[in-house]
Amino acid sequence: MTKSKTTPDANPSPTTGFHFLQLPGPTNIPERVLRAMHRPAIDHRGQKFADLTRTLLHDIKSVFKTTEEVFLLPSSGSGAGEAAIVNSLSPGDGILMFDSGQFSLLWIKMARQFGLDVTVHENDWRRGASPEEIEATLREDSAHHIKAVFVVHNETSTGVTARLPEIRKAMDAAGHPALLIVDTISSLGSLEFEFDEWGIDIAVGGSQKGLMLPPGLGLNAVSAKACKAAEKATLPKFYWDWNWMRENNKDGFFPYTPAISLFYGLREALDMMSEEGLENTVARHTRLGTATRSAVEAWGMEPICEDPREYSNSVTAVLFPDGYDVENFRNVMRDDYGLTLGGGLARFQGRAFRIGHMGHCNELMLLGTLQGIELGLSQIGFAHNHDGAQAAGRVLSRTPAAMAAE
Ligand SMILES: *Cc1c(COP(=O)(O)O)cnc(C)c1O
Repeated sequence: MTKSKTTPDANPSPTTGFHFLQLPGPTNIPERVLRAMHRPAIDHRGQKFADLTRTLLHDIKSVFKTTEEVFLLPSSGSGAGEAAIVNSLSPGDGILMFDSGQFSLLWIKMARQFGLDVTVHENDWRRGASPEEIEATLREDSAHHIKAVFVVHNETSTGVTARLPEIRKAMDAAGHPALLIVDTISSLGSLEFEFDEWGIDIAVGGSQKGLMLPPGLGLNAVSAKACKAAEKATLPKFYWDWNWMRENNKDGFFPYTPAISLFYGLREALDMMSEEGLENTVARHTRLGTATRSAVEAWGMEPICEDPREYSNSVTAVLFPDGYDVENFRNVMRDDYGLTLGGGLARFQGRAFRIGHMGHCNELMLLGTLQGIELGLSQIGFAHNHDGAQAAGRVLSRTPAAMAAE
């Protein structure tokens, strides 16, 4: 491994102690989950496996806050997004999408690849999908050519959380029947999300972010309305076919070899989530996000997200000050301190870094991260205010009750 250019005696070896994986995915995997997965495979056509699967398919619903169907797919989050599209839409269907970040942009490319007629709303990548624009576009579409609105709930490349309840209201105000498809890959299990209450039709999830698992499981939560749309959808599908899945799932089985080891991990992760309680999980992320932003402010830096209503509590993307090399900074953090941070993506490449604070993360891990960032900033010669960790500590020392009352 090549070490970055730093003073040789700057700090002891980062190979001892814990490595801080503060990426917005993949995230830290709890020991409990790792141990749960360390088991031999079992027959995925046997009763023992079906018994496990049934508990997973049932309990995962509570994470989405739904009583509707959830499918577990052997894929990364992108595969689950593809499943959402090919199951619910037909070639030439209209779909409204937002060019508001790197992940949003990837979905646009995917939809085009499938021959959908994509209406794109662009913004400067510093805010989320606009409820007002959705309402205006849907009102104009009196022929109902648009079959789906696709929104990224939490844009991981920019740290922006779209206002889904307002988007739902906007769609209802327009009286338009389009499906609401959302990418919840970096929000599920971290941020408030209400599949049923918010009238979501398809939610796309992935295992390696808030769910605290390794990558490799994709998820689709599917409303009755989306199932109905699926009956008429003609995009080609085989591997992703919900019907095939459903037929097998009803007895606890899968059409093909599922990700057995990840299922063991998911069982453990679901137990951990139910022990904490989803509301407490969301509150913890709110505290971590608020504390992180107070550190960013103390550093005299700026989050990419411009609208405080849309600040993400699972990831904070920070614009790096001009004149400093952010990639060098990230190398220093990783190689000299054992702290991995996310980089800026696409149009923020080389201009920003990202702090993941989702999933298996607590207050001291965050304070270690923020204090670590200050060591790295000093090392690259960023001579400004270094009281970010202190500012974050002040936020974290407020009791949850006091914070809720503010
Ligand atoms: C990580 C992520 C993706 C991509 O998921 P993969 O698991 O890498 O396929 C898509 N959207 C969002 C919002 C993400 O955070």
